Amino acid sequence: MQALQYREIGSRPELVEVEKPAPGPGEILLRVTAAGACHSDEFIMGTSAEDYYFKPLPLTLGHEVAGTVAELGAGVTGLEVGESVIVYGPWGCGRCYPCASGEEQNCEHGMRAPGIFSDGGMAEYMLVDDARHLVPIGDLDPVQNVSLTDAALTPYRAIKSALPKLTPGSTAVVIGSGGLGHVAIQLLKALTQTNVVVLDVAQDRLDFAREVGADAAFLSNPDAIDSVKELTRGLGAEAVFDFVGIQPTADLAAGMIRTGGQIVVVGVASGSVPIGQTTVPLDVTGRAINWGSRTELMEVVELAKRGAISIHVEQYSLADAPRAYDNLHAGKVRGRAVIVP
Ligand code: NAD
Ligand code: ZN
Repeated sequence: MQALQYREIGSRPELVEVEKPAPGPGEILLRVTAAGACHSDEFIMGTSAEDYYFKPLPLTLGHEVAGTVAELGAGVTGLEVGESVIVYGPWGCGRCYPCASGEEQNCEHGMRAPGIFSDGGMAEYMLVDDARHLVPIGDLDPVQNVSLTDAALTPYRAIKSALPKLTPGSTAVVIGSGGLGHVAIQLLKALTQTNVVVLDVAQDRLDFAREVGADAAFLSNPDAIDSVKELTRGLGAEAVFDFVGIQPTADLAAGMIRTGGQIVVVGVASGSVPIGQTTVPLDVTGRAINWGSRTELMEVVELAKRGAISIHVEQYSLADAPRAYDNLHAGKVRGRAVIVP
């Protein structure tokens, strides 16, 4: 079968022929119907040899995966061949306290995500380690909804924790209107009556943000602090969600959060917000999150079924998948690039 692999440190992904996997006891073979390209894949491919801690290369990319059940390994019950599913990605051990609570992304034994720590879904078929990692999607279109597994699940977790602060008339800032950010805007609109302000570096991303529901959008530079202060009687935002995570965006978050507000960092980079008595307004909380829980994925699927969120998808064939990553790398993808094998 064909698979898109990251094969050598510093190289770009390549389409190669690999053996079709066979499901061992307890495993499930999926025929992939869609796989999303995430900026975190660029983070993996940008990591130096000495810092690389993901699956030893080659790595089949793709941690956002939808498929139909193709084959059940020995002992697997509760799934039908042909069933349409999406894959919960942050695979944990399933037995420790966080995993038992559905929070497998925080597994005490580390997270074994496909496309990151094992071969992922940018291929014709993919192995799934356990039936509990599959969420049936019924009639939902897999191409439109594959990115619920990360581009919706992750912002959903980020926003859910801040909901008590996002009372009607409050202000929430989304930094970065890309794959995750454009879903965050819709989630804020679906779950709250907060004013949604979006910051991005590209004008077309600001237009995109308004199209998916942003109330205001500004270029991401230090002037944005004054813009947010003007909209909030000089007080600042109740919550800032940073989908970039570099120091300039961390500084924006620290500069525009109000007393008692919450900053949630989602972007994977090395920016940081110093929490202290004199560094941010008092009573500010800061949180850096990783992906989401199994139950949160179920909640996100329900939101999609009710039409509350809709992911903007650019579709590519598997043969064209390297171009999808080139476009992602160049900041040219509007919404999410989804590969359809
Ligand atoms: P993306 O490339 O689709 O979107 C990034 C957006 O940020 C783009 O619109 C870009 O123009 C904008 N941007 C870049 N620099 C900016 C700046 N200085 N100020 C404001 N906007 C800026 O990326 P994505 O797939 O949505 O991922 C976003 C980030 O989230 C990445 O860092 C990714 O690794 C991370 N991520 C984290 C998790 C997690 O669990 N913590 C999960 C998935 C993705
Ligand atoms: Zn991701």
